[in-house]
Formats: sequence, structure tokens, C-alpha cells
Amino acid sequence: MGINIAIDGPAGAGKSTIAKMVSAQMGYIYVDTGALYRTVALYITENNISDDEIEKALENANVSLKFIDGAQRVFLGDRDVSDLIRTPEISMAASRTSAIPAVRAYLFETQQKIARENNVIMDGRDIGTVVLPNADVKIFLTASAEERANRRFRELSEKPDCPPYEEILEDIKKRDWQDMHRETAPLKQADDAVLVDTTKLNLQQSADEITRIIRERI
Ligand code: C5P
Repeated sequence: MGINIAIDGPAGAGKSTIAKMVSAQMGYIYVDTGALYRTVALYITENNISDDEIEKALENANVSLKFIDGAQRVFLGDRDVSDLIRTPEISMAASRTSAIPAVRAYLFETQQKIARENNVIMDGRDIGTVVLPNADVKIFLTASAEERANRRFRELSEKPDCPPYEEILEDIKKRDWQDMHRETAPLKQADDAVLVDTTKLNLQQSADEITRIIRERI
């Protein structure tokens, strides 16, 4: 059994960037579970699978994670789709399909197995509440919707097809709502998770705060 650290929180709170920094520092594997949900969404979109066909179709989906030089890559069959899943369309599709219990059940064992076999920092929405309820440390990472939209806007502003700030904010709020109000494994802070609000913190300050919380507990 590895040491397990769960980081949950809404989209754009900085989970993946911060978790990557902290895991590199601690020598842990960083697992981005959102990539798994995105890959299922890609599979469903590419194959035009309807909601009632999903459970059966997942038997042939073959979604897997590989760690290449310590960095996570996600595969659909033998195709590396790690970059293909980073579009606004797939973000929305993942948020929608992740509410389907059969999708969550399908990815549950994949996530638990990695955590059993490695020291991990795993980020997602339900890691501390459902996937790793006995995690050694649980963190709920958040920031205001406006600040999260700001960060996303800055990140995208160098790209030619950057959407307007208002659209990004709207998408973030919609995704928050969907993730928090679904019936199965909704996004919520676990009772024993430490809340970290990064609205007024930069990346380094956020990473330092999380490292401090982890070191204090393990
Ligand atoms: O973390 P990321 O934004 O890449 O996740 C995409 C979507 O996948 C989220 O909006 C959420 O609906 C879903 N997700 C989930 N449970 C997780 C990780 C992601 O439901 N553990």
C-alpha cells in the first residue's frame, strides 16, 4: 500500500499544476483522474454512443494510464490521447458523462489500483470522498470562480481562438454546478479534508502551503 494524498476541488483551482509541483518535490506519482473522464468522453463522442449504450460500450473502451519518465499519459486502446482531450468541448462532455454511474464504476478500479501500488498524489472531484476514503492526507483546493476564470483566460490569451472572459467564466460556473449537483459522487469537501483557498495565492505559495500540510501529517 502506497502513501495516498487526495486533492479534490473545482475546475481551474490549480490542482494539476500544484499537484505536479508537489509530487515532483516529494518523488510521488501524480495522477490526474480528470484525464480518465476526458478520455471516456472522447471515446463516447468519437463513437456516437448514446447514454443507454454506454455501459455495454465501455467493455471495449480500453482506457489506461501509463507513466512515461514520471509523467502521466492517457491511452484509448494503443492511441495516446493525452493532448487531444484538452479542448473546451471535451471538458463539457466529460463533465456531462462523468455523472453517469456506469462511467464512474468503470474508472473506479483503475484509480484504486494505481493508489494501492504507488505513492500517489491523485487529483479529481471524489478522490477523498469515494475513491480513496482512507487517504493519508486529503486537501480540498478551491478559488473563487472569477479568479479561476481569470487564470484560464490568461492561459488561453496567447492562442488565436481564445474565448472571451465571460464565456470562460460561464463554462466554469456551469461545470461547477454540474459537478456539485450530480447524484453519484458529487464534488464536495470530505469531512476530514483540509480546505485551501488559492484565490489570493500564487502557484508557488499554493504549492508551499500544500507541501506544509502534507509534511505535517505524514
Ligand atoms: O479535472 P478535469 O477538469 O480535467 O476533469 C474533467 C471533468 O471530469 C470534470 O469536470 C468532472 O466532471 C470529471 N471528473 C470527475 N471526477 C474526477 C475527475 C474529473 O467527475 N475524479
